[in-house]
Amino acid sequence: MTRRNKKNLIRIVVSAVLLAAAWLIPADGVIKLLIFFVPYGLIGWDVLWNAARNIVRGQVFDENFLMALATVGAFATGDYPEAVAVMLFYQVGELFQKIAVGKSRRSIAALMDIRPDHANVIRGGEETEISPEEVAAGETILVKPGERIPLDGVIISGSTSVDTAALTGESVPRACLEGDQVVSGTVNLTSPIQVRTTSVYGESTVSRILELVENASAKKSRSERFITRFARWYTPCVVVAAALLAVVPPLVTGGGWTDWIHRGLIFLVVSCPCALVISVPLSFFGGIGGASRCGILVKGSNSLEALAKVGTVVFDKTGTLTEGRFSVSEVRPTDMSEEELLALAALTEAYSNHPIAESIISAWGGTPDKSRISSEDELPGLGIRAVVDGETVCAGNAGLMELCGAEYTSPDRAGTVVHLCRGSRYLGHIIISDAVKPDSKAAMYELHALGAKNLVMLTGDSVSVAREVGTSLGLDSIRAELLPDQKVACVEELLARKAPGSTLVFVGDGINDAPVLARSDIGIAMGALGSDAAIEAADVVLMDDKPSKVALGVRLARRTMRIVRQNIVFALGVKGVVLALSALGLTNMWVAVFADVGVAVIAILNAMRALRIPKQK
Ligand code: ADP
Ligand code: MG
Repeated sequence: MTRRNKKNLIRIVVSAVLLAAAWLIPADGVIKLLIFFVPYGLIGWDVLWNAARNIVRGQVFDENFLMALATVGAFATGDYPEAVAVMLFYQVGELFQKIAVGKSRRSIAALMDIRPDHANVIRGGEETEISPEEVAAGETILVKPGERIPLDGVIISGSTSVDTAALTGESVPRACLEGDQVVSGTVNLTSPIQVRTTSVYGESTVSRILELVENASAKKSRSERFITRFARWYTPCVVVAAALLAVVPPLVTGGGWTDWIHRGLIFLVVSCPCALVISVPLSFFGGIGGASRCGILVKGSNSLEALAKVGTVVFDKTGTLTEGRFSVSEVRPTDMSEEELLALAALTEAYSNHPIAESIISAWGGTPDKSRISSEDELPGLGIRAVVDGETVCAGNAGLMELCGAEYTSPDRAGTVVHLCRGSRYLGHIIISDAVKPDSKAAMYELHALGAKNLVMLTGDSVSVAREVGTSLGLDSIRAELLPDQKVACVEELLARKAPGSTLVFVGDGINDAPVLARSDIGIAMGALGSDAAIEAADVVLMDDKPSKVALGVRLARRTMRIVRQNIVFALGVKGVVLALSALGLTNMWVAVFADVGVAVIAILNAMRALRIPKQK
């Protein structure tokens, strides 16, 4: 508990004791007023002060005003104990709220624990401990077992296993060998490794995640905006209703003023909207926090709300539904040796970060000599054009060969084909194949079960490959041989066709699909190691690259929305009933206080459920 909360707790206890004492002391008239005023002043001075300050600022109608008016009114009608009690319980509710908000902030802060505190940099053969911000890209750092990896980089010596749970929610450690990428924020478990950093701290995975989560609550959902607007109108209406209730009946019937004023005051206490005003944002906050603990970073409540209504899910193929790690199954040169063709392909692909490029380079097995390349062009959806040893070489699909005017031959075998040509002379092709991710199929099944009616795969790859993946996963439709702008057109068409009220989610690995990510209702980028542009454009970022996390995200979003709805219905329902009873004179101040604070406490407790991590299927 924070110091402030502790102080408030002490204040509540002392006021409660003073209230009890005031009750027991037999007194009358002004003396009685004074002895009740002591606990009232102690427990309520800040509410009175805030109410007065807000009136001066012109923002009259808030909960401070309601509480001040109700309790001062109760004093005026001689209900001293009630006045103190209302204030006391109001403060109990406030304290509870602060603790709940603090707790959910801390749970997100548990994720914030990923912030590394130091880096052991090796400079001139000497190891020094400095802050991660001071390490440049390309430096070598030593990460000992038990230490948090401070910066993104590549292992240059040693091998170990790494705990990624804080980022991905995945509890099984990941084995990392020399040459593998490691991500900042994860923990080195078993042995020391040397890492060559690939970015500075400000651009590392850790800083990007922290930034994302910290900014998430700024993007409000429709429900939150509704509640804020609702409270703005609701409070003045209630005050007017309470005033009418206190004034009109006695005027009409003549007399009975105290009783009706009392009913008006009760009305004020019950109608305080704090349960809604706090619990709805708290539920979203919890939902975002719970999701981030599962490795799903949601950039705002609006995205969470939209995710819950998913109807169409569009997937990119390579690297999203499939591993994106191709194995070379055949090399067919026209007039050079197989090795030579593979080496040339690897060289042409040297600068590309496309999964195909990485697979070809690793199949060739060497490090391409980049000095032989004088220029390089990535043609999204087609392939690569590079100037190698002064001659233009292209590597890519059939579309690219047509662009180059090369006469190519297409193999009859299944697989993705990378054709090569020098100028317009065809050099042959390499057949590569990719495996579907192990959990893709289960993910599609679960999404269907969650009511996503239309699962679509878009790909730049050939129809035959697309069809194979599509049928093995049970997708509803596939579109193949698309260039990036055709993918955007497809998504636009699907957006126009989707069921009203449902949303379209696009899931991509971030390699050349930033435009589609931005265009869809919700863009989900997979693998936080993907490109920065994709993480920028996405609304949701998955820390790992499992398609099943999409389904988990939908489930978490639905749970959050369910909690929000429960709170709204519950709070409005209870208040409505108590308000009606109060108008009829069937309640008293005590019932009102319990209705108000009790509802707030229950709603907050319910909101906290959003933070829990569900069992992963
Ligand atoms: P997907 O839609 O499956 O993610 P992309 O749009 O990234 O695929 O690429 C579509 C096609 O373009 C690939 O199937 C491949 O034929 C070709 N291609 C793209 N980049 C490269 C590359 N670096 N090398 C060779 N071929 C490429
Ligand atoms: Mg792709």
